[in-house]
Amino acid sequence: MTFPRPITDHSRLSINTATTRAQWKLAEAIDGYARAGVKGISPWRDQIAEMGLANAAKAIRDADLHVTGVCRGGMFPWADAAGRAAMLEDNRRAIEEAATLEADCLVLVVGGLPAGSKDLAGAHAMVEEAIHTLLPEARTAGVSLAIEPLHPMYAADRACVNTMRHALDICEKMGDGIGVAVDVYHVWWDAELKNQIDRAGKDRLLAFHVCDWLVPTRDLLMDRGMMGDGVIDIPLIRGWVEAAGYDGFHEVEIFSELDWWKRPAEEVVETCKERSLSAV
Ligand code: ZN
Repeated sequence: MTFPRPITDHSRLSINTATTRAQWKLAEAIDGYARAGVKGISPWRDQIAEMGLANAAKAIRDADLHVTGVCRGGMFPWADAAGRAAMLEDNRRAIEEAATLEADCLVLVVGGLPAGSKDLAGAHAMVEEAIHTLLPEARTAGVSLAIEPLHPMYAADRACVNTMRHALDICEKMGDGIGVAVDVYHVWWDAELKNQIDRAGKDRLLAFHVCDWLVPTRDLLMDRGMMGDGVIDIPLIRGWVEAAGYDGFHEVEIFSELDWWKRPAEEVVETCKERSLSAV
């Protein structure tokens, strides 16, 4: 077997609903993706809440879409006891939602520093403590937790786990039922990426997210590129995750206030389909 495997159809294409968030509510996205022949979806929790969990689950089932992830749990580090309790409660709801939607994983964006804090090591410890608390409950619910290491530019405010190495160190301390979401946007720059993907192996590679890194990037959060428009060698990285045993979906996740959110959603979905053949 040579990697990356050729992609000749859309049977492994998933779209993260952030990609059409400005144009479509969740019900429209479910309908629009299914109509376009996309097979997977990864919904955000605010959209699930807006539609209602039971309604969302039924619509996704009726559309025969596979849920490649629920976005997102995490945001673990807390400022005080009340904050810790609220964080745990929110993550318990997220686990329940992922279970109801039969998602491949609950994506964890682990959170940055609590407001006013400079204690990065303390934040790292809180992340581990929270996962240690929640993981047995996720296992009972049949939900896999996927730590998504985020690009280091988000360490302060979104995720203080920024490399595959750090994410996998945590996974190995925790045992079964936890792995990583590999998002090329966040990890493409890492000289250790291939080795860490090999280290993760099939059991810990729970999701593969694609988009592209634009040069210049005009906004740190909202200027992700369509696959093929930037500098990431996506087929190379896909080859690495496949060689390590990953055989799941390729989930397109594009936050693009400056470009794709301004276009008709149907055009965005069609472009995702085309580029998933030519640039993933
Ligand atoms: Zn992602």
